[in-house]
Formats: sequence, structure tokens, C-alpha cells
Amino acid sequence: MKVAVIGCTHAGTFATKQILAENPDAEVTVYERNDVISFLSCGIALYLGGEVKDPQGLFYSSPDELSGLGAKVLMRHDVKSIDNQAHTITVEDLDSHETTTTSYDKLVMTTGSWPVIPSIPGIKSDRVLLCKNWAHAQALFNRAKDSKRIAVIGAGYIGAELAEAYSLKNHDVTLIDAQDRVMPKYFDAAFTDKVEDEYTKHGVALALSQKVQSFETTDDAVTIHTDKESVTVDLAILCIGFKPNTILLEGKVDMAANGAILTNDYMQSSDPDIFAAGDSAAVHYNPTGKNAYIPLATNAVRQGILVGKNLVKPTVKYMGTQSTSGLSLYGISLCSTGLTYEAAQEQGINAQQVIITDNYRPEFMPTTLPVTMSLVFNPETREILGGALMSKYDISQSANLLSVCIQNHNTIDDLAMVDMLFQPNFDRPFNYLNILGQAAQQKLAEAVKA
Ligand SMILES: Cc1cc2nc3c(=O)[nH]c(=O)nc-3n(C[C@H](O)[C@H](O)[C@H](O)COP(=O)(O)OP(=O)(O)OC[C@H]3O[C@@H](n4cnc5c(N)ncnc54)[C@H](O)[C@@H]3O)c2cc1C
Repeated sequence: MKVAVIGCTHAGTFATKQILAENPDAEVTVYERNDVISFLSCGIALYLGGEVKDPQGLFYSSPDELSGLGAKVLMRHDVKSIDNQAHTITVEDLDSHETTTTSYDKLVMTTGSWPVIPSIPGIKSDRVLLCKNWAHAQALFNRAKDSKRIAVIGAGYIGAELAEAYSLKNHDVTLIDAQDRVMPKYFDAAFTDKVEDEYTKHGVALALSQKVQSFETTDDAVTIHTDKESVTVDLAILCIGFKPNTILLEGKVDMAANGAILTNDYMQSSDPDIFAAGDSAAVHYNPTGKNAYIPLATNAVRQGILVGKNLVKPTVKYMGTQSTSGLSLYGISLCSTGLTYEAAQEQGINAQQVIITDNYRPEFMPTTLPVTMSLVFNPETREILGGALMSKYDISQSANLLSVCIQNHNTIDDLAMVDMLFQPNFDRPFNYLNILGQAAQQKLAEAVKA
């Protein structure tokens, strides 16, 4: 069996390893246009902020490792076209510029995503950088050395992390977004208000509810004109989202409106010999039961493994995702899973929400810390649809627990009473998540009385 894996960051690396583990005799060839594999972009902000000292630690595999497992790894090879009728791909060696056409039995599309670059006048500038891969990380690190003023465009979680990192390195940071809050897709205002206060305390200028209209680059600066003001900086970084890198299969397999490849539960596309995983593919979003585009490494590694398990015959089904994610800004952990209340309303889903703050452990302990929590639930079925937590205490594993609750269709009643340990070092007789479930129960009980 000849297998072609196109693209090798997370989905490609995990798919390759699993394919070889399941099918030791498979002839697997990996085509990667860059000169590195398995770069963890999630470490970029930590590298820029100085927490990660050695960026080589941000790679967890190598071409040598995959070759050692039996793959043929062709680095700096760009796949130019796919003929799925003939089962061939045409590949350019980016060093010799030689082009070859080769056949496959199974094709794995792990080509990922690329930053959205809107057609705004002046956007093609050497002072407007992207943030996606290792080459970008190096450019962002090096260019920051002589760039005091930095604008981050896009206040999603990537822009939010970059703004924090550069502000901690004493840059003058402006964070621009068309929305009126930072990270509105992930957190409600009760959370983002606190984060915005922290940005202001750390000198980050928030330019919210502003749409970038044009860029004007001079010899020593770039001026960003929004619909409200103009900001002159040394460097601008575009972080407004990602689009799937799937042009090679346009018109050849079923895709979502944004170009994400639609797969069945076994990561197989509408062409049975083409599989897709990671940022090139849509995910099954459990809180709505629909397909969605959620480009996260968490999804990429899981889907990559499933490609390996299902390439020869459908074996292990994809569980779907809650889009569970987290970040830490100025020492505050923010984690979310599933739907926010706003997102539920936008999608016409019957939802209610409670937001409470409680200390994570008893006040008689030498220290404790407040945890702000949100729970979004369906008031009819009482099922949990989403949740978020924010604290200086590490609440990340609690977001993971809420993710499991959504995955398993647990209700607010399950959360209110489920067995959780009690010991004053850690929590109260009821863990703070039990208390969150109880707050949701109380909200519904009061609604019945009223
Ligand atoms: C700054 C940043 C921070 C992030 N933080 C997190 C986080 O904390 N948690 C999380 O879960 N996710 C995070 N993500 C998202 C995560 O990095 C992506 O979801 C993940 O990289 C997707 O992996 P992938 O392998 O599907 O695709 P990609 O990483 O996009 O890799 C695709 C690969 O395919 C190659 N390729 C594409 N086309 C071709 C071709 N025609 N021929 C040859 N090679 C090709 C590319 O060169 C690339 O190496 C972050 C992303 C960024 C940018």
C-alpha cells in the first residue's frame, strides 16, 4: 500500500506514526514544504515573552524520527496538484525545482491552515507579519528587538497571548479588534472585562470596535488606519483567524463553505481513498451536533491518530470535540469548553447561564483564591452545553472535566452531585464545580417559582 502524507506538522506527524504502527509494511511518503516538522505554535508567545528560552524544545519529532519508523520523508517538497481520478500527485522539490508525478493508493491530507489575509490596501508590507509557523516565530522574535511599538491585529486567543508577551517585554502594544471585547468567541463579558483591565494595567492600548481599513508603510514605521483612528507602529502582526489549506482538493472532495474537508466519523473524505485530519478538516462539534471549523492542535493530533487507525478499514470512530482550550494572561488562567451563552443564542439553541465566583478552598486555610465560573445549559433537558473558568488558581483540569460532562451529555444535576474529593488543601465538601452545578439548579428552581 502506497500512502502519501501531505503536510507534516501535528496531524501529519501523528498520522504517519499511527499508519506505520498499524501497517508496518505500508510504503509511507511524507511531503512537507517546510524544513521542519512538528513545530508547536502554541509556544510562540511563550518564546517571545521569554518564558521558553530554547525554542528547539518546541519540536517533538523530526524527519529522522519518522524515517527511523520506516517513512520516506521528503522535506522542502511542495505538492502542487492532486489527480484523484488517476491516484497521482505532482510534487516540486523546492531546492532543485524538479517536478515529479507519483502514484498513491491512499492519500492523507494534513495540509493544515494558513492565516486569513484580507485584501486591505497596503497589507503586503515587510512591517506586517504573520504568526503561524517556525519561520514566523523567528521573524517575530528577531524583528521585535528593534521594534518598540507593536500592534497586534485580532484579539482572539493568539492575538491575546502575543499582546501579553510583548507587553511583558516592555513594548508599547496596541491590540486592535473589530469586536467590542477581547476573545468574545471563548468568554463572556464577566471574564473579558477582567482581562481588559489587566491589559490596561500593563500598558496595552485596546483599540476595540475598530476595523482596519489600510496600512501605510514608510522607511521606519507602518501606520494602521482603522475606521476610528490611526496608529503608527514599528511592527504589526496579523492574527485574525485561519483558513484551511485545501485548494489542492477544491472540487474533488466535499468541503464546508470555508474549504474545510468534510469527513465521515473515520476521517475519510467523500473520496474513499483520501483522508483528512487537523486544520485542513472540519470537526464534529458535540455541543451543537454539527460540523464546525475549530483549528486546534488538540483536534489535529486526535484526528491524525484516527487516520492511522482507519486507513485500511473503518475501525475507531471520531468522538468529536468541545473545542476545549485555555490560556494564561498575566498570571490569570482562562479556560473554556463548549458554547458560550452568546454563541448558543446566535445558533438559536435554548440556553441559560449562571456565572458565580467562589473561593476554591476554605477561608480558614492560609491562602485561597477566587474562581469565576460560567455554566451554559439547556433549561429543558438540563444538559451542560458549555463552561468557562477564570482564576489565579490553576483551573485548567476543571475545564477538562466540564468537557467530559458535555461529551457524555451530563446534566447540571450530575455536576451538582457527582462525587469529587474533599480535603481542605484542595477544596470544600462540595468542589467548586459541584457548587457551579448547584447554582444552575437553583436558577431553574427559581424560574419555576416565579
Ligand atoms: C500562535 C498559535 C498558537 C496556538 N496555540 C494553540 C494551543 O495552545 N492549543 C491548541 O490546541 N492549538 C493551538 N494552535 C493551533 C494549532 O497550532 C493548529 O491547530 C495545528 O498546528 C494544526 O496542525 P495541522 O498539522 O493540522 O496543520 P498545520 O500546523 O497548519 O500544518 C500543516 C503542514 O502542512 C504543510 N503543507 C501545506 N500544504 C502543503 C503542500 N501542498 N505540500 C507540502 N506541505 C504542505 C505546511 O507546511 C505545514 O507544515 C495555535 C496556533 C498558532 C498559530
